[in-house]
Amino acid sequence: MLNAPRRLPRRHFCFCCLGAAASAATCEWLTPQQAFAEARGLVSLIKDSAATSPIVIHKQRNNISVLEGSGGNMAVLTGSDGKVLVDAGIAVSRRHISAALAAIGPEPITHLINTHWHFDHTDGNTWLHQAGAKIIAQENTRKYLSKVQRVEDWDYNFLPLSSGGLPDEVFTHEHSLKLNGASLRLKHYGNAHTDSDISVAFGEADVVHVADTFWNGVYPFIDYSTGGSIDGMIAASDANLEATTDSTIIIAGHGRPVSNKAELKNFRDMLVAIRENVAALKKQGRSREEVVAAKPTSAFDAIYGNFVVDPGFFTRLVYEGV
Ligand SMILES: [Zn+2]
Repeated sequence: MLNAPRRLPRRHFCFCCLGAAASAATCEWLTPQQAFAEARGLVSLIKDSAATSPIVIHKQRNNISVLEGSGGNMAVLTGSDGKVLVDAGIAVSRRHISAALAAIGPEPITHLINTHWHFDHTDGNTWLHQAGAKIIAQENTRKYLSKVQRVEDWDYNFLPLSSGGLPDEVFTHEHSLKLNGASLRLKHYGNAHTDSDISVAFGEADVVHVADTFWNGVYPFIDYSTGGSIDGMIAASDANLEATTDSTIIIAGHGRPVSNKAELKNFRDMLVAIRENVAALKKQGRSREEVVAAKPTSAFDAIYGNFVVDPGFFTRLVYEGV
């Protein structure tokens, strides 16, 4: 019986599928203690990989660059008002991020915008604040970063940031800034990947960072613990499509960082198709594991199924919300 799959409460996902080193052959349900250890291992894995990972700079229009290699994809706008960062990456990447920022130009870091509260977008907040950045975010981001935050589907408790790492300024729906000659518009999505997600649009450049509402070429994580849902992800994708044109540069939270409307449309269509498949199976009365076994994602797995959120995990996330 030791190797037989074990039914566990909702939050205990199969974390062995998330670990890069684990193979599907060894995949089985974990005890809560094992799941916790595995989740902690996953966070360590992300941090360890960030510590050694070089930062790749993708230069875009109007003094905007994208930095890839430390947690979520970051954006940087530079100019006489200093560097404006969108997301902070992982703290252990400080040396590599500092080198990348220096390569972009000599301007000081003056602003940091957090697209949502997750650690792979905010872990660098404290050092960036010490380096001179004023931190701006949606109000729920500060709320979640201020206390112990539990992510049920990772079975993991994230510790609060020290006060120096918390956003200095928060807003509820929208916030506008004029920096380096650029008009920045920060807009709350409502409930999407979490309930703290915002887009950051650079008006004149026609560039938008859409946070973790878009994982380019990979299945997304959806954080139900803090207000995320599959329907919210689809609504956010529709809002992103409405707000962009074929010439807009779209920066994705994860996956290939520099994207466009065509890839965003494919991602949205994938979410809708899998949601329909899973909802139809659930309506027939099938259990979550029966739905996973029916492979409702199979038409998309070759493209989207090769990252940390594998087909089974993504199916479970969708099942939870339909
Ligand atoms: Zn996230």
